[in-house]
This record gives sequence, structure tokens and C-alpha cells, in this order.
Amino acid sequence: MTDQRITSVISDFGGVLTTPLMSSFAAVQDDTGIPMDELGRAMARIAERERVHPLFELEKGRIREPDFLAKLGAELEAALGHRPEMHQFAEIYFQALHPNEEMIGLMRELKEAGLRMAMLTNNVREWEPRWRSMLPVDELFELVVDSAFVGMRKPEPEIYELTLERLGGPSPQECLFVDDVEPNVDAARALGLHTVHFASNDQAIPEIRRIGGLDGGPADPPGP
Ligand SMILES: [Mg+2]
Repeated sequence: MTDQRITSVISDFGGVLTTPLMSSFAAVQDDTGIPMDELGRAMARIAERERVHPLFELEKGRIREPDFLAKLGAELEAALGHRPEMHQFAEIYFQALHPNEEMIGLMRELKEAGLRMAMLTNNVREWEPRWRSMLPVDELFELVVDSAFVGMRKPEPEIYELTLERLGGPSPQECLFVDDVEPNVDAARALGLHTVHFASNDQAIPEIRRIGGLDGGPADPPGP
């Protein structure tokens, strides 16, 4: 499938190196009583009114988490009939999020095979200590590009270009990008990167191993 050797792997964080995000949103729903669809509708109403999506603004580090939650809480109040407790959102969310050990093991194997490893995440500035404590980030990845610190987010082409630049400028054809969100995968593919759309370990791990050259594919892992 690939005729050029993959030299670099760029992985998403949430939903790829962790358990599925839906279970975290479900935990928030159970613990706060805020239905997931109400959350989505509240954000859509804010986005329509303010012409910018509040989650995108949060992920680009343009608004702080407490301001985001206050805005969302105020918007939800109308729909729910009371002002919901929003301040524990991150705590509940992260309590239900766990490392995906199989994928983390695969990342370690790819690194040991000599591949350059980067993480590209749409994230929240205030959540950095929480997600960093879930996996050995600095052991696995020489580069982390976090939307909240660079002011852009997937699927904007510029954030992929920045990642490649910070990796020392590999060609897109030398890179494998892994993400669980389809528009993020589509944007990477449009730039010429190899992609795996993560749906499950059973589906994604063999694809990543093959494209990354771990199973005798085009990469050329050094001997032991
Ligand atoms: Mg994700």
C-alpha cells in the first residue's frame, strides 16, 4: 500500500490513546444530570449567537476553562430549568477516561523501531496535567502539539503543517497520522499523510503495524 518508507507517526490523544470519549461524556451525564444532547445544543446556540464555536475557542486557548464552563452553564440553565454544576466537569470526565494500554504499547514499539513520534491533540490548556498523568508522554513522544498552546486546531491544515515543521520537515508521504475523528483524518489525508481512522484496537492496530512497517512493511526497523 505504501511505497515510501514511513519515518514519522503522529497520533491523536483522546479516544486513541485513551478509552472512548463517549464513556466519559456518559459519566458526565450520569453525574451531573446534564443530557449529552443538551450539552451539544447549548454549544450550538452559543456558536450561532457568537459566530464562534465555544469549544473551538476553548481548544484554541482563546478562552479559559472556567469562562467556558460558566458560559455553558448559563446557556444550559434555560433548557434545564436550573443552573447546572459545571465546575467538576473535568474531574468527572477524566475519572471515566483510562489509558488505552494496547495502543500505548504499540506507540512504544513504533518508537523502538526507530520512528519519530509526535502527538497532535485538540485539548484544553487547563487539562494538561490531567492528560499528561495518564501516559508516559515524554518517553513516547519527542513532540507534542497541543491546540490550546498553538492557537489552531485539527482539522485546520495549518496545525498539521506546524507538526511536520516541528518534526524537522518530513514529507507528508513519510508520515502516518492516527485519529478517531473522521474530519481530522480527512484533513491529514488531503495533505498527503498516510492515515488510520481509529475505531477500535482490533481494527486500528493491524493497520498501524502494517503501514508503520512493524510487520515487514515499508519501514526498515533497526535490528535488536
Ligand atoms: Mg480523539
